Amino acid sequence: MAVPKRRKTRSKARMRRAQNWRLEAPTFASCPQCHHPKQPHRVCPNCGYYAGRQAVPTE
Ligand SMILES: [Zn+2]
Repeated sequence: MAVPKRRKTRSKARMRRAQNWRLEAPTFASCPQCHHPKQPHRVCPNCGYYAGRQAVPTE
């Protein structure tokens, strides 16, 4: 197994650990049915459509 030649500096170790707690804004795509912004691979919160059919009943 490969072994690192040099110990990472405190700064570099902290830089790497700092990647994990960052929170990202969710991505949004437009609904093909009503053009309401929705998250990809989720049922549309506005019209309840998914994959071209009514997946969740709306009032
Ligand atoms: Zn929709």
